[in-house]
This record gives sequence, structure tokens and C-alpha cells, in this order.
Amino acid sequence: MDNLPITLESYEVENRYVIDHELHIHKIEYRRDPLTDVWVRINKNASKKPRKKIREEIEDSPCPFCKENLFKETPKPTDFDRFLSYRSIAFPNKYPYAKYHFVLIPNYEEHITSFSKLSFEDFYNSILLIREIGEYVVSKDPEYRYLLINLNKGFYAGASQEHLHFQVIIEKDLHGTIGNFIRKSEKYFSENKRFLIEDYMETERKIGKRLIKEDKNYTLISPFAPFRNNEIMGMVKSFGMFFMADIKLKEFLKDFHRILIKYEERFENFNMVFLDTSLLKEGKTLPIFRIGQRFRYDMGFLEVYHGEFVVNVPPEETAEEFRRIVHDTSL
Ligand SMILES: [Zn+2]
Repeated sequence: MDNLPITLESYEVENRYVIDHELHIHKIEYRRDPLTDVWVRINKNASKKPRKKIREEIEDSPCPFCKENLFKETPKPTDFDRFLSYRSIAFPNKYPYAKYHFVLIPNYEEHITSFSKLSFEDFYNSILLIREIGEYVVSKDPEYRYLLINLNKGFYAGASQEHLHFQVIIEKDLHGTIGNFIRKSEKYFSENKRFLIEDYMETERKIGKRLIKEDKNYTLISPFAPFRNNEIMGMVKSFGMFFMADIKLKEFLKDFHRILIKYEERFENFNMVFLDTSLLKEGKTLPIFRIGQRFRYDMGFLEVYHGEFVVNVPPEETAEEFRRIVHDTSL
């Protein structure tokens, strides 16, 4: 297709085998993620595998994130009490993976385990707590400015507690694929004076088949090269989520809350990352989020040792499904 700001790279191979005299052909498409340069593989034939829902019993121990136990067992920052707003609370993660790593519980008064049970008010208050956490960290450590809102939803997504909680991490430097994205965005900006993510979204808008929703506050797609099955990706049309006027922020968060509810209805176990740029002085990207499905045994040597991702649902199918959902519910 002509006139696309970003070139999308891909190629395909075929794998053939026989079972009971029957020939099976698998087409495997390699696609390069234009945002991180990570290559992913899509086995298009495997997409017809049944996606059954999975549940596993969680042991019957008292929930540490419910208010009866919360204040006994959770850490506090060294110089500050916990971040609290109505039914939402945030505190340092007991098993941190970063200098600033917080657990945020949107509602600790009730044992809430899903977005469909979480009120918008609690969701909204939680996001406002994240703004406070960001301001607190920057006031202590001005170099820590990458604000990441992360989520493990469900057992197979790595959640150790079923009580709904976000993990907020604030970093000085970013590594891994998200670090690739930041460095690529900076390079792209210095060469083109434009945001890589905006040009990528423009590319998807023109192609159309992976576009889910174009809204005044955000663009939602299923990315060209997903890292997980049924991945969706959004770009917020603001230099930072917390630069949005209150009304706009609320509007955006209402949609975002509904996206999470709809995603959860379909896929139950999923991961999310939301990179917010509100703390960056001269950010070279806009806020971006990715949400991807998880299931049992979905990681192997390719993910662990090759640093590659394997999926079997083409993003074009995911986009088609989500476009329907968006229309059904007037998201
Ligand atoms: Zn609980």
C-alpha cells in the first residue's frame, strides 16, 4: 500500500506434515513489530483451536488485600503512609522488582476479583492515586519518570492474588522491549520530528483492517505484530494522561474501564501495560497501552530464550471481533 508513514515488514513460511495419510499445512507468518523491532510469529492455522475458559482453584487462605488483613500485612513507604482515597489504596509491593514498585488495590473494602464488579468510581479514584504516586516519586527522585501501570489479571497471567490489583512501577530507564520502544521513539523523533506511535497509528488507520476504534481521546487497534493472542493496543491522544482536562480524563477512563470489562468477559486471563508519559519533561511518545491474553502453558523456549513471541490468533481477527464488541456496547 502506498503513502504509509511506516513500512510493515513480514514474510511467510509453510510447514507440512502428515497424520493418518492426511496432509496438514501450517502457514507461519513472521512480522516485525514496528515499535520495538521484536519479531513475532503467527501460526494462522492454530487460531481455530478452541479457546476454552480455564479456572483453577485458589487456595482457601485469607485474602491479604481485603481490609481485614490489609493493614497488618502490607508494607508502607519509609517516609509516608499508604496512598489512600476512599476505597482505593496503594502501598509498596512486598516483593518488588523495581526501586519504586507499588501495589494498587482499587477497592479493598470488598473482595473484588473482576472489572465487571469494580465500580467506575473506584477505578477512577485508583487512577488518581497513581498521579499522587508519580508526584511523590518525582519529588524524591526526579530522574524516575517512566510511569508504568501494569496488571496481571487471573491465575494464568501471573496474578498471585485474585483480589483485583494493579502494579505501578516508576523507572529511571526502561529495558527490554519497552526500552526498545522508547529508544526507537526518540530516534524517530530526532530524525522526523514526529512521534513514532502517531505515525504507526496513522498507518493502521489507513490500512483499516486492524483498527478497532478511532475516538477523540484515543485510537484502539490490534497490533500488526502482537506479543500475545488477542492483543489490543491503544494510544492516548494527549502528551500524558494527567495532562488531560478532568472531563476528558474521565471520559477516556470510562471507555478504558469498559474495554477492560469487555476484554475480561472474553479472555479472563490477561496482562496489561500502560506507559504514561505525564512525568516526562519532553516525552518523545504519547501514552500507550497493550493488553494481551494469557492461558496455561503459553510460554516456551521461544519466549524465554529467543526473546520471540508466538501467537495463533491473527490480529485481523481480533480487530474484527473487537469492532463488533465496540458497536454492540457503544463503547
Ligand atoms: Zn480480597
